[in-house]
Amino acid sequence: MAYPSAIREVHGSQLSEIREQGLYKEERYIHSPQSARIQVEYPSGAAVKAVVNLCANNYLGLSSHPDVIQAAHAALDERGYGLSSVRFICGTQDIHRELEAALSAFLGTEDTILFPSCMDANAGVFEAFLGSEDVIISDRLVHASIVDGIRLCKAVTDTYKHANMKHLEQKLEEHQGKRVRLIVTDGVFSMDGDMAPLDEICSLADAYDAMVFVDDSHATGFIGRTGRGTPEHFGVLGGIDVITTTLGKALGGAAGGCVSGRKEVVELCRQRARPYLFSNTMAPPLVAGALKVLEILSSSTARRDKLEENTEFWRRGLTEAGFVVKQGESPIVPVMLYNARLSQDVARDLFAEGIYVIGFFFPVVPQGQARIRTQLSADHDIPLLEKALEAFERVGEKHGILGLDKKGIIEKFGM
Ligand SMILES: *Cc1c(COP(=O)(O)O)cnc(C)c1O
Repeated sequence: MAYPSAIREVHGSQLSEIREQGLYKEERYIHSPQSARIQVEYPSGAAVKAVVNLCANNYLGLSSHPDVIQAAHAALDERGYGLSSVRFICGTQDIHRELEAALSAFLGTEDTILFPSCMDANAGVFEAFLGSEDVIISDRLVHASIVDGIRLCKAVTDTYKHANMKHLEQKLEEHQGKRVRLIVTDGVFSMDGDMAPLDEICSLADAYDAMVFVDDSHATGFIGRTGRGTPEHFGVLGGIDVITTTLGKALGGAAGGCVSGRKEVVELCRQRARPYLFSNTMAPPLVAGALKVLEILSSSTARRDKLEENTEFWRRGLTEAGFVVKQGESPIVPVMLYNARLSQDVARDLFAEGIYVIGFFFPVVPQGQARIRTQLSADHDIPLLEKALEAFERVGEKHGILGLDKKGIIEKFGM
């Protein structure tokens, strides 16, 4: 019960420092369900404004899908609100088993274990099956939750330069003496929208007797011909040893995550993974909602096809308008602005135009790599994107950035 004023001052000055560095994160209050168009109060206290949403992970537009909502309602009535237990005490329902089997079938894996989130899956998985005789070799740009999970594990750790296969090969050679070599990567990297070259990674894993781990949170449900994720895109479906992914993005967007892959690894997670053993089970409405999502995705590729069409339209439109767009195939489309202040000014002007995007800058992305990250959804349609594109053009024109390349933007605005 002691919070001395000296400590309050220390904390207060840390907060001021965050503000002074321009790194303070302001939340925007949404007054509607998650969708392509949302009602936003920003800044706090301002009148609520209707905007086009270009920054959610709602890739398949399933976050507020009527069938998903109905399935969640039914489970609420039939299985209750919550289980007040971890899985292994009295928190496992038949629908949890059903969802784990459905995820294995969808991902083409041997077995699956649910976690409260993918953050928790990544926090628990490494410690569950690796020890000090093993080595984790991870891409330098993996998600923060993987970095944390690796820190909790006793394995030796090493990294390779982002997507650099020569460097990975060198590291695999170096660590031939270890029991397990685990290559760790994101499937799609969230800031650049680029994909890990899983075909090459799997070849190297074969050649150097290594296991492969992929976090496919920004891919499951829509990357690959039938949405099975980056392993399908690269023709290595069924070949990845450990996949983690989230139910909190394309797959309905509520909450939940999983580890899916070799059945022994999954079983070890059930015995040892601390976020599984010591955190509450997924709530029944979320489990039923996720089951409905997988049913929708298994019956038709219409949503991922629509997303692909929207993404192609958007990439082409921005490029033709004269923006610098990071190349790639995923629905994460970064508009490069390089300068941090410029990224904030452009995001603010777009919001005034009714377009909701966020400007990212250091330390979320490397210094001098500031950008607006746009994300497409199957909920968008071409007329909506045309309107958004016009707004981008007006704002780009205002700041005099249309037609400038990287060098031009940096010369005009600095890094
Ligand atoms: C979003 C994300 C996570 C975290 O998922 P949650 O289920 O929200 O905890 C983990 N890994 C990657 C790569 C992500 O993009």
